[in-house]
Amino acid sequence: MTTVGKVIKCKAAVAWEANKPLVIEEIEVDVPHANEIRMKIIATGVCHTDLYHLFEGKPKDGFPVVLGHEGTGIVESVGPGVTEFQPGDKVIPLFVSQCGECRFCQSPKTNQCLEGWSSGGHERMSSLETRFTCRGQKVLQFTGTSTFSQYTVVNQIAVAKIDPSAPLDTVCLLACGVCTGFGAAVNTAKVEPGSTCAIFGLGAVGLAAVMGCHSAGAKRIIAVDLNPDKFEKAKVFGATDFVNPNDHSEPISQVLSKMTNGGVDFSLECVGNVGVMRNALESCVQGWGVSVVVGWTDLHDVATRPLQLIGGRTWKGSYFGGFKGKHDVPQMVKAYLDKKGKLDEFITHRMPLESVNDAIDLMKNGKCIRTILSLE
Ligand code: NAD
Ligand code: ZN
Repeated sequence: MTTVGKVIKCKAAVAWEANKPLVIEEIEVDVPHANEIRMKIIATGVCHTDLYHLFEGKPKDGFPVVLGHEGTGIVESVGPGVTEFQPGDKVIPLFVSQCGECRFCQSPKTNQCLEGWSSGGHERMSSLETRFTCRGQKVLQFTGTSTFSQYTVVNQIAVAKIDPSAPLDTVCLLACGVCTGFGAAVNTAKVEPGSTCAIFGLGAVGLAAVMGCHSAGAKRIIAVDLNPDKFEKAKVFGATDFVNPNDHSEPISQVLSKMTNGGVDFSLECVGNVGVMRNALESCVQGWGVSVVVGWTDLHDVATRPLQLIGGRTWKGSYFGGFKGKHDVPQMVKAYLDKKGKLDEFITHRMPLESVNDAIDLMKNGKCIRTILSLE
């Protein structure tokens, strides 16, 4: 029986409020409106940004919401005005849209787009418009995607069509974590061959940054984490040195400076902690060191002494690794299919959507790199 043109009832993990476990509910997913695509979600990763919304940021108007933004799907039906997609297409919903027409899309200097959910909803991490309801209430769509649901509706400017041979339960990592870390190294830091790099935080984002530094030809890649269980994985992606700040009494920037004769050429903060952001900057060599903020937080100010910057260091930020989603994500999928990049090595756990709270606990307790949830 066709679902086209009808409201779909399906399972989703609803976050009714901050700090509470997600609840598996039956939700109603509306038909796609003009320029929208309704898709069946096949698989999704759990990213720290989902945990940030639930436990750290806890925005006042950000609930109830369906989290999840690292997913893959298959187009079920399209709304009026959609010509680029057809039912059956394999797709990745994007938290960074690419309308192709706004001032930002027209510039090669940024991957941000002035359209899409973020134009009005950075505070609550969703636009006010949603195609979801549950128990008679409107439920928000996190970053315009909401992949912890068997079906979702996404504007076509935030959907990438990918190679039909791609394994959807693996390439979902390219919807966020892996593109974010890899691109932060390659596109934002612009890591150079022969350089020395330091990566702070070795979750999927940090490990992808290690992979990016390695593929850019860095000669030394120092992996920094408070959890020494992460070091073995970092070696797989190309890290050469391993530092646990808890093993040292002096500030980590001094430890790295001594190890590298004055500081690293490039550092990437993949934790989401303003203290670590400062340490990462101050671990860079004076004169030309570049430090990139990748970790997500908007709760505190970040600080350093002006001389750090006057002395020639550059402080930058990276959003989704600088990738323009619609254009670049299919190419990253192709690179994986051509065996030019690792993805399987990030996956430590697989479970059904019903176990989403276990997946969240694994990440909270530092016991996983990525858990992939299956929605079928
Ligand atoms: P994760 O929780 O899997 O990994 C974080 C790692 O940081 C863990 O290994 C943890 O042990 C380590 N860590 C914690 N405190 C530390 C400290 N003081 N020093 C060194 N290491 C420390 O998270 P993830 O999914 O890899 O995401 C990492 C960050 O990237 C999060 O802040 C996430 O929100 C952010 N993020 C940003 C973007 C973007 O577009 N900029 C996109 C996705 C995720
Ligand atoms: Zn993410």
